Amino acid sequence: MTDNQGRTIDYLRISVTDRCNLRCVYCMPEEGMENIPHDRIMTYDEILRVCRILAEHGLKKIKITGGEPLVRKNVVWLIKELKKISGITNVTITTNGVLLTEQYEALVEAGIDAITVSLDTLDAEVYRQITRRDELSRVLEGIRLAAEQGKVRLKINCVPVLGTEKQGILELMEYIRKYDIDLRFIEMMPIGLGRQFHFVSEDILRKLIEDTYGEMTLYCEKRGNGPCRYYDVPGFTGKIGFISAISHKFCHECNRVRLTADGFLKTCLQYDCGVALKSVLSEGFSDETLWKMMEEAIRQKPKAHHFEEEKKAAEDEARGMSQIGG
Ligand code: SAM
Ligand code: SF4
Repeated sequence: MTDNQGRTIDYLRISVTDRCNLRCVYCMPEEGMENIPHDRIMTYDEILRVCRILAEHGLKKIKITGGEPLVRKNVVWLIKELKKISGITNVTITTNGVLLTEQYEALVEAGIDAITVSLDTLDAEVYRQITRRDELSRVLEGIRLAAEQGKVRLKINCVPVLGTEKQGILELMEYIRKYDIDLRFIEMMPIGLGRQFHFVSEDILRKLIEDTYGEMTLYCEKRGNGPCRYYDVPGFTGKIGFISAISHKFCHECNRVRLTADGFLKTCLQYDCGVALKSVLSEGFSDETLWKMMEEAIRQKPKAHHFEEEKKAAEDEARGMSQIGG
């Protein structure tokens, strides 16, 4: 699959649910979050059909996300089935980690290729401030188990939102050093509630890390499926990565589309552009017709986001990150 800019699209991020067991301040409101009704959520059969069609046209990598993907019943069954699709080489998951201990073995058995756990801080009080829940110890237990078992690649995602000192970025560095895993910093994107916060730029974090540990060296080999730039840090085996959509825009090499929990094939994080698949999936169209619809949407994938512009555009996405999947 290529779009009109000549970019190859081989990566799909699927939000399997908009529900979540946390309420991160930059993602979901504490109260008043209206869940998408169950009959409007993509069924596993519908997701599998879309993936099989896309895989015939070049889809290779899939990320399972949410909301919190581990709160959806039987998500490991979906992963197992996705792994059977010819052409799919890599199925990974991003989770908040609250249910990781319970589901780790099943994920490994299903054939998951990598697990990313979102963890913004190691400080229990700050964790509660960010996620509005008291689940830090369960998350740390899940990471400990997964790191010690070492059966699949494990990464940690951190969104600096309350400041590098308050969130204890250097403590997080020491923590991942102990476990020998990658740590990636994500710049806050102005989507949904994220608009209320400022991003901490890659340059600020790099300075903090280099002042503490010495010069970082760009890691030039391919690592992971996306736009993350990885560095080696003296004394660390795991890499430190930056996903800097605002300060180091990477749209020219974007390889991804997204499937929202309600079945919208979304071609750019910022804009409400793509094709609504949920309703057409039940209308008896052939796979060929469905592919034509998806191909047309993928071709029209916007050239770039314009998050750096203060003004909100009319075509900006109204969905929040929990519906899109990050
Ligand atoms: N619940 C899972 C989790 O938290 O890992 C998966 C879904 S969550 C939407 C996926 C990722 O998006 C998380 O790492 C989260 O920190 C990140 N995220 C959420 N809102 C964001 C925003 N406005 N800007 C940047 N990243 C965001
Ligand atoms: Fe839930 Fe993930 Fe959003 Fe936090 S970032 S509220 S864990 S979906």
